[in-house]
Amino acid sequence: MAYPIDKIREDFPILHQKINDKPLIYFDNSATTQKPKPVIERISDYYLYYNSNVHRGVHHLSQVATEAYEKARQYVADYIHAKESSEIVFTRGTTESINLLANCLLPWIGSGDEVLISAMEHHSNLVPWQQLCQKQKANMRVLPVDIQGNLDLDFLDKLLNTQTKLLAITHISNVLGTINPIKEIIEVAHRKGVPVLIDGAQGIAHTQVDISKLKADFYVFSGHKVYAPMGIGVLYGRKTWLQRLPPYQFGGEMIGHVSFEKTTFNELPYKYEAGTPNVAGALGLETALRYVDTIGIHNISAHEDRLLQKATEKLQNIDGMRIIGTAKHKAAVLSFIVNGIHPYDLDTLLNQMGIAVRTGHHCAQPLIDFLGIPGTVRASFGMYNTVEEVDIFADAVAQAVKMLR
Ligand SMILES: *Cc1c(COP(=O)(O)O)cnc(C)c1O
Repeated sequence: MAYPIDKIREDFPILHQKINDKPLIYFDNSATTQKPKPVIERISDYYLYYNSNVHRGVHHLSQVATEAYEKARQYVADYIHAKESSEIVFTRGTTESINLLANCLLPWIGSGDEVLISAMEHHSNLVPWQQLCQKQKANMRVLPVDIQGNLDLDFLDKLLNTQTKLLAITHISNVLGTINPIKEIIEVAHRKGVPVLIDGAQGIAHTQVDISKLKADFYVFSGHKVYAPMGIGVLYGRKTWLQRLPPYQFGGEMIGHVSFEKTTFNELPYKYEAGTPNVAGALGLETALRYVDTIGIHNISAHEDRLLQKATEKLQNIDGMRIIGTAKHKAAVLSFIVNGIHPYDLDTLLNQMGIAVRTGHHCAQPLIDFLGIPGTVRASFGMYNTVEEVDIFADAVAQAVKMLR
């Protein structure tokens, strides 16, 4: 069956507008994706017809909202093949999920211990570990990346040692597009008894995530990068871990019994969900994942691969073009710079032509410093982008380069 691009585009009204008199070309999907109508309708239905606080009410609306919220959790669990829905903690997003873990793992990491990350981490999966290590007098070690954007797996084995308390690594680089061989990485780490956290902010949008095969200890992602609303995200944690770790925030919902002397904590996953949760967000996330699933994540990634290949070929013909990130296994993220031209100038001209890309360090400053570049222009594709858009984009880049020379 042909990829249903027209049907998909109909579901995203935001795409059908003009920017600077030109049809919008939205190539900033690694920063956030647009939301299809069913997701927006799910959120508005919730507020129109059954908004109510969850878990605490006997009344009808509260029961309906609670049931919907827990069904969303179950759907997310099934979607990533988690064993139980209690392994799914709803958070605000990737950043909060990682901060939650950095807080809860604090007693697990002591003086002289090590946390291993990679050189291609987003600040979200770097700063929390750096701060934790500073606090605990532990050491943050960094697995290097080569100039193509591949991690050095032989070196990984050498870096892992008895002091290593956690490996925190991204599934897909939001700068280079590299799809890391995380299954293999997790196996190597587990052989040395080291638990693994995967930053799945990009992974969830471009690949099939199957926790039962990956065996990650923790896998985190944001809804908004996979066509769901902002302000909802997921921390998957293996049950044995979530049971063992202390709670994150304290307050309502996360308690078992409270007296002035003592508090017992609620069961999983509520132990980690203090306060009123983002119910509408969770429902939106369920609907977004269902939407992705009806098209099929493999069909989406195959479509995005075609766009990536075409864009790469066309850009390579531009004089002075340097593609940043040329790993063999790459998702639909295309970073580049052009010799002698500042990325921001290029971006400014592209915006004038109705094209939304992103420029800068993409929240991965150490990586950009390592590459010795001022930043990149990044085009990142989503399920609704078209080959025609890629053509227009490549011509626009060529034209902008000419104007700036
Ligand atoms: C976007 C992104 C994050 C941060 O996600 P938030 O939704 O801003 O919390 C972390 N890691 C990667 C790889 C990302 O692309």
